[in-house]
Parts: sequence; C-alpha cells; structure tokens
Amino acid sequence: MIKKIGIDIGGHTISAAEVLPDGDGFRPAALTTVCTPQEKDMPSLAAAVRDLVLQRAERGSRCFVGIGVPGFVNRDRSVILRLTNFHGCDGVPAALLISEDLEEHGISAEVRIENDANCAALGEHICGAARGMKDFAVITLGTGIGSGLAANGRLITGSHGMAGECGHLAVCGEDEYYRCMCGGAGHLEEAASAGWLEKRASEMGLPADFRAIWEMRGQNDAARALTEASLNAIARGIASICVMLDPEAVILSGGMSRAVGITEELRTRVMKYLPLPVRPVFKLLLSELGSSAAVIGAASLDASL
Ligand SMILES: [Zn+2]
Repeated sequence: MIKKIGIDIGGHTISAAEVLPDGDGFRPAALTTVCTPQEKDMPSLAAAVRDLVLQRAERGSRCFVGIGVPGFVNRDRSVILRLTNFHGCDGVPAALLISEDLEEHGISAEVRIENDANCAALGEHICGAARGMKDFAVITLGTGIGSGLAANGRLITGSHGMAGECGHLAVCGEDEYYRCMCGGAGHLEEAASAGWLEKRASEMGLPADFRAIWEMRGQNDAARALTEASLNAIARGIASICVMLDPEAVILSGGMSRAVGITEELRTRVMKYLPLPVRPVFKLLLSELGSSAAVIGAASLDASL
C-alpha cells in the first residue's frame, strides 16, 4: 500500500500527517502544524506542501497526497475555482501543478484537492462523530465558514463540485450587506465567521481575537452584540441545512466551535428557526477529531464517500 499523506490548508495554519490504518479507521501519525505563508499565493502554498511531503516521503518513493483547501474546487478535485482568503489561486490546476513540483523533487505523487469542510466531513465519517451515519452535515466555524454534507451515504458534490458551501448561504437581511470575499453579498460568512467578527471588533476598538470577544461578552455590550449577531446567523444557517438535508446530526468543527458553551447557545437558537416536526430529531454534536478530521479526510480522498 502506498503512503497516504493528508494536508489541510487553513487561513492561519497548515496541518499535515501521514495517515495510517487503525482498527476500523485511520489515525494521523506525527501531525505537524505550520503557519500558512504570509504571501498566501500559489507558489508559496506549493512550496509549503512540498516541504511537508518531503518530511514524510523519501525521494524516489510513490505516495498519495490529498489536500484540503478553504474554498471552491472543481468536480474532479483538480482545479481551485475560488479561494476567498488567498491570491492568484483561482482557476489554477493545483493538483497537477503540485504533482509536477513534487516530481521535480523526486516524489511520484497522485495529488487530489478538495474543499476543506468536505475533507472534515470525510474524516468524521471514517473515524469521528459521523461514524456509521448516512445523512449528516459537518460545519466548520473558523476564519471562514464551510460545510461538508452527506446524503444517502454519499458526499454531496453537486454538478460542478461546489455543493455544500454553507458560508455563502444568503442569510443576511438587506440592511446587513457587506461584501463577501467570494464576490457575492449578504452571506453567512460575512455575518458570522471569526475572520469577519475580528475585523468588525477591531473597527470598534475591541480585541481582534474571537476567543477574547467570546469571553468578554458577559461584561461588554459591544462584544455581546457582535457574538449575538454571529450566533443568530449561524443558527439560521444550521436550521436551513436541516430543512434541506434532514440530517441524522449536524457536527460542529473548527476553532470557533471550541469556544466554551457555543454548542448549547447554538442549539437553543436553532430550535426557534426549525419547523416543529424537525425539532425533536435535531442533533448538534461537536467534532470528535478536531483539526485531525480534515487531514484524515484529505488522505482518504482516493477512496472517499
Ligand atoms: Zn460568499
């Protein structure tokens, strides 16, 4: 069996590991996390991926490299369509480019890319909170907001590979419009992601740090107003997904999901938006794998849902 390497590219950090079989699932071996290059462009991302692969694969060897990226990817998991927080990556055939770069450095690799939330959903299904489920949603709450959706035991990719991008659900009212980095407007990500929350906090003289804003909300009116608006928007997004998908569970993942008490706060808010028959079956869970989920899912893209 060839070596399987999973890499998860985020707005702030990149995590990587070789993924090894472990009972019915997989486990990441020697997971490392490095800072995302400040340039945030394709050459710097390719170089970061190369370094992480060369730490795990010997020159002259063959391996599979799966890469989760925070944005839109085409249906055959080869071309980046839109990375909202990066530059010059849109339209780039990243799988081919990275594979050729690795070849030049002595590694023969099959490379596949996928939306990072889809990778997290695959990971949670293989050995995390979605084990054994056929219909579920994994929502990643962090710098951006994403989701990976599964129905009838299959990851929903859509006609063009772009399905399930819940950060771009248009849940904001006309008076709440900003301009989403995807090119659209009125999106969940603008209303609720840590990235946008921190930007707004900084303009208001609050710390540009989600955890700090979350912890201040009991004493500070501005911090409370910011987090309330964010929670309500996320709750509307989750309720919309439940109505469309009727999932067995919605699983929260990403940095924001680890804020103490956020699951309970969201559960209460989602209830009021749900139709009555959906309320008793609504199940909101926390990721069991944390940041490993997307790495495990990425490494498994050669044999995914
Ligand atoms: Zn958007």
